[in-house]
Amino acid sequence: MYNREKERGVDMVVGIIGAGASGMAAALWAAQNPNVQVILLERQARVGRKLQATGNGRCNLSNVNFHIAHYHGENPAFTQQVFSQFGVEDTLNWFASLGLCTVTEPTGRIYPYSDQANSVVDVLRLALEKENISLRLGFEVEKIKTSKDGFLVESKEESLLCNRLIVACGGLAGTKLGGTMAGYKLLSKIGHRSTKLRPNLVQVQSRWKALPSLKGVRANCNIEILHNGEVFAQSMGELQFTEQGLSGPVIFEISRGVCAASGTWHARMDFLPQWDDEKLMAHLQARVDRNYPVEELLTGVLHNRLGRVLTQNAGIKGKTHCKDLSQRELVELCRCVKALEVELTEPMGMDSAQVTAGGVLTDDFDPYTLESKKVPGLFVCGELLDVDGDCGGYNLQWAWSSGYVAGVNAGKEKDD
Ligand SMILES: Cc1cc2nc3c(=O)[nH]c(=O)nc-3n(C[C@H](O)[C@H](O)[C@H](O)COP(=O)(O)OP(=O)(O)OC[C@H]3O[C@@H](n4cnc5c(N)ncnc54)[C@H](O)[C@@H]3O)c2cc1C
Repeated sequence: MYNREKERGVDMVVGIIGAGASGMAAALWAAQNPNVQVILLERQARVGRKLQATGNGRCNLSNVNFHIAHYHGENPAFTQQVFSQFGVEDTLNWFASLGLCTVTEPTGRIYPYSDQANSVVDVLRLALEKENISLRLGFEVEKIKTSKDGFLVESKEESLLCNRLIVACGGLAGTKLGGTMAGYKLLSKIGHRSTKLRPNLVQVQSRWKALPSLKGVRANCNIEILHNGEVFAQSMGELQFTEQGLSGPVIFEISRGVCAASGTWHARMDFLPQWDDEKLMAHLQARVDRNYPVEELLTGVLHNRLGRVLTQNAGIKGKTHCKDLSQRELVELCRCVKALEVELTEPMGMDSAQVTAGGVLTDDFDPYTLESKKVPGLFVCGELLDVDGDCGGYNLQWAWSSGYVAGVNAGKEKDD
């Protein structure tokens, strides 16, 4: 049994499972107490693998437009006590103290000044190089046993003893980047139940036959999701077409709950939200006397491939000359640009999702400390809990804030 920390004569050993965003934050905060030895266990070969891929490699680490309404779960109010202890400003001060410069975009999203997610991983990795933190890479925890002295944490090869334990294994989303069921399973064996897990912040699939030719196209768009013809959700921003469906920030913002209920689901897209129908019609009419193929009619306004697909969708043959267009065809083209409807089938799976909706039941945890009400000395933080945030840096903010609360409290001596 590995017991080196105990032998060093420290007062308390805090074990942490998972060196992702919340686990690294928890380790640094627990280790603020010099009488604590932290053992940070990570099954992968390096820390922060998912963190490195966030924000398309840029890491949208928080958002100045923070509001509790951006969080979901069976009991979103649970997060209030956590954020009131460590909010956006605390996070930015903390990162500044670790040497990270940040920048806030006009949308409110906060990124590292370097525009590199690596910078966030690196400042955390360097900060972990501390005497009272030992990082064990390639250590995959398979079992947690509780005893009167604390916890026995086991991998295939070895066992570790710790007085307190923080489980920060993350959620199931982003499986290729380390998303796993491990945390839910480890906790269920010691009495913690989870809610149903669903992929969130994920692209939505469609069988629209034009998708292969639009793959990779990005468009600014106002989008409405219709359930049985009624508006279910609406958002405006960047849409990305993929071979299987619709993706991009505008979809992530409204993907929660889409296709969850039976009935028909459609996306209605306006590719020129800043123009009304009259302005678009005037623009088209000013060009119909030109002697070029109708597939060029939207050239200069929309992405060329999108323009061509919309023209085809309006039932107009590509080689028709603009001057041969009927008024009815022009009206139909206008409708396709301003209100194109495509049927949606289902969201992509956990592999493609950025976050897991659902998780370990928060009712079983003290919201002030994140300590289990069932297993004293056990703490949980990050995405593993039944908390998920909207697109825009809110999930990482939850990781930093919950990592702080779990770390500080797990690192507290009993009579503090
Ligand atoms: C592609 C992508 C882009 C994203 N972009 C953003 C963004 O820009 N902004 C934002 O706010 N959120 C973003 N997210 C979400 C965000 O990354 C997560 O919510 C956040 O990383 C969760 O932190 P965590 O510490 O709970 O889990 P993770 O960061 O996933 O860390 C969990 C760690 O635990 C380890 N682990 C798991 N099981 C074990 C075990 N049994 N033994 C040992 N170690 C184990 C894992 O290997 C992992 O390193 C994105 C997610 C994805 C997938």
